[in-house]
Amino acid sequence: MFDFHLHSTVSFDGLSEARDMVQAARERGLKEICFTDHIDHEVNVEKEIMVFDFDEYSSAYDDLEAEGLKIRRGVEYGIKPYNMEEMRRELQKRHFDFVIGSVHFVDEMDVYLAPFWEGRTKESAYLRFMEETLKCVQAHDDFDVLGHLTFICKGRGNPTKELIRCNDYRELTDEILKTLARKGRGMEMNTSGMDRCGDFLPDAEYFKRFKELGGEIVTVGSDAHNTQRVGQYTHQACRILGDIFGYVCTFQNRKPIFHKI
Ligand SMILES: [Zn+2]
Ligand SMILES: [Zn+2]
Repeated sequence: MFDFHLHSTVSFDGLSEARDMVQAARERGLKEICFTDHIDHEVNVEKEIMVFDFDEYSSAYDDLEAEGLKIRRGVEYGIKPYNMEEMRRELQKRHFDFVIGSVHFVDEMDVYLAPFWEGRTKESAYLRFMEETLKCVQAHDDFDVLGHLTFICKGRGNPTKELIRCNDYRELTDEILKTLARKGRGMEMNTSGMDRCGDFLPDAEYFKRFKELGGEIVTVGSDAHNTQRVGQYTHQACRILGDIFGYVCTFQNRKPIFHKI
């Protein structure tokens, strides 16, 4: 159906060429996809690698077409409680259909990697991550959906891979979801947690709660970095969101399109 979170080799960690990923999407019967390469600013590094080259981005995607498949151009932007102005400037550099705001860095450390986990328990790490996520969604307006809330669960440096359930940090979670709903922002159901954590990031309960709190915009993304994972579990995710909301969204020109499921 839809896969609105894909990384090609335009991203520093992408492993497959854009045209090969498009071919995989067609073979799996997807109708609409969006490339969402990384812009994530590290601090205290000599050379930043997590920011794609805009020329490379344009030459990879601007002429990319495939019969029966809509291809959108997006970005996964690393949001921090203080980088709104930098983000606004960078998003003006070219046209995007869709912007995922994702929290990857907390205390200037990548929560995916082991150094963030040094000296932290699972509880303290998860709590810190959720607090930071709330600050980010309060501070930012220029994104379309929050990417993979509960991303920290699948991190390579996370020894537990245990999921954060909707009730674990209930007040914080409610504040995050309420803030998104109030701002007219959406939530992404990211399927990359299935193999590593056994459920979506975040799982269906968060989306039920999101709806209760007034949330309307929901998207699905595999977060594939190679052809094998393109569209993986997106069919199930679309069905789950269809059961809760009656639709799933895609985006064009930063505007949601509601597809009845
Ligand atoms: Zn991400
Ligand atoms: Zn991603």
